[in-house]
Amino acid sequence: MGKLKGFSEFDRLDEKYISVKSRIKNFREFTVKPSDKKIQEQGSRCMDCGVPFCHSGCPLGNLIPDFNDAVHEGKWEEALSILHTTNNFPEFTGRLCPAPCEAACVLGIINPPVSIELIEKNIVEKGFENGWIQPNPPEKRTGKKIAIIGSGPAGLAAAQQLNFAGHLVEVYERDSKIGGLLRYGIPDFKLEKNVIDRRIDIMQKEGVIFKTNIEIGKQITIEQLKKEFDIVLLCTGATIKRNLPIKGQELSGVIQAMDFLKKQNLVVDSLGTKEEHLNAKNKNVIVIGGGDTGSDCIGTSVRQGAKSITNFEIMPKPSKTRTKDNPWPYWPFTLKSSSSHDEGSNRKWSIMTKEFIGNKEGKLTGLKTVEVEWITNPEGEKELVEKQNSEKIWDCDLVLLALGFTGPEDKVLAGSDIKIDSFNKPITSKYMTSDNQIFAAGDNRRGQSLIVWAISEGREAAYEIDKLLMGATSLRTKLKGDLVK
Ligand SMILES: Cc1cc2nc3c(=O)[nH]c(=O)nc-3n(C[C@H](O)[C@H](O)[C@H](O)COP(=O)(O)OP(=O)(O)OC[C@H]3O[C@@H](n4cnc5c(N)ncnc54)[C@H](O)[C@@H]3O)c2cc1C
Repeated sequence: MGKLKGFSEFDRLDEKYISVKSRIKNFREFTVKPSDKKIQEQGSRCMDCGVPFCHSGCPLGNLIPDFNDAVHEGKWEEALSILHTTNNFPEFTGRLCPAPCEAACVLGIINPPVSIELIEKNIVEKGFENGWIQPNPPEKRTGKKIAIIGSGPAGLAAAQQLNFAGHLVEVYERDSKIGGLLRYGIPDFKLEKNVIDRRIDIMQKEGVIFKTNIEIGKQITIEQLKKEFDIVLLCTGATIKRNLPIKGQELSGVIQAMDFLKKQNLVVDSLGTKEEHLNAKNKNVIVIGGGDTGSDCIGTSVRQGAKSITNFEIMPKPSKTRTKDNPWPYWPFTLKSSSSHDEGSNRKWSIMTKEFIGNKEGKLTGLKTVEVEWITNPEGEKELVEKQNSEKIWDCDLVLLALGFTGPEDKVLAGSDIKIDSFNKPITSKYMTSDNQIFAAGDNRRGQSLIVWAISEGREAAYEIDKLLMGATSLRTKLKGDLVK
């Protein structure tokens, strides 16, 4: 496996980018492709570690040492086949995954871990370049019909798996294009949308039917779908945006991050026109929220020509390295900087926004903050307290609320008596809701999460559905599949 001591011969290679000055001129992806030789060297850094913790770090159970070894040997097509065994869409995770597998890589105990995500992306891109990724329609059809609501990564993964199993799959999407947050949340500079289109094209050729501009719960009810289909799978995401209910929240200039990001994605796709109130040009922008969405707002504001960008995070600044209570192989809660952060933003930690300030016309002109700290109270619980005399006023014209999502919308389930929890999430057992004809997967079931989890949930739900319909299944999931031969 790998090259004996390859990890001591070659340093870790991280993805390289073109200069900030060049890349912020447009919304295109900006990574620089390494040579095959360099990627093969990276594959050879994978040690024969015995117990590959990366398998369990990855929600998909990707067979990482196997594809690393194939790449090291220059067997790219074999590497692709290994990768596709567990992951329907490595082109999404290879670009966007925070890579929990790398956090769990055994080499990471003593050295920088293997560049697993970089290797993954280069395998799948080589597959597309060489025409190795071709439609793979099922040999025969089962006669069973499945409706999937929502076309994000969970719905797409489930659709492809269930279609592989021979069922007729129809995907219903309320937006005009397929992809969910991949298309309308994540900016093009992280994921160009032709990357989604080429995969959809393959899935259509495999026989998956996509129906856009149809909102279930509005044009068609879930009860109607139940009459026409054997199973309905909810993959509608967790789309209720978290608000900041403080004084001044109604001022013009206080905008939800998703409204801002979706607008720009539509503009890039020539499906929308610029709107002044959703544009950062010449504005002092404050992004509230330090996660992925906040970072995407920064990169988008930079490209739109913002005058200044400040980013608030309520949590304290994390340490650069793992702390004692956060050891390997757990996810490291360390300081992370995205490519967008490097493009120009002023990051502030331990800051809480208390009030939005506006003028007589109802337009945002600034906001008021305090510094906060987390203390342990006498009951031993963590508590957020404001620091005395830390009040500060910040001038700004645009505030972007990147505070995450509270849960799924309830519209789609209107009229049904499916059991839900306090966050509107359907209560499931093996992905089946309290109605045995309705399943759920992805952010809709687990709450806001990651692409890799959405793909994993879609695959696991497909496994359970196929097993229910056919009595047995040959679909593979993380824990229940044949080993790669
Ligand atoms: C700005 C942003 C950036 C992100 N960046 C990353 C990242 O870099 N890496 C990462 O791993 N994760 C990232 N995420 C998270 C990731 O995008 C989600 O976890 C993932 O897309 C969830 O997939 P899903 O299929 O469950 O739902 P979604 O992608 O939300 O898709 C749900 C789909 O259902 C459709 N729908 C909803 N209701 C109905 C209805 N009634 N009828 C018909 N259609 C309906 C919606 O229109 C949508 O297309 C990001 C999220 C955001 C918001």
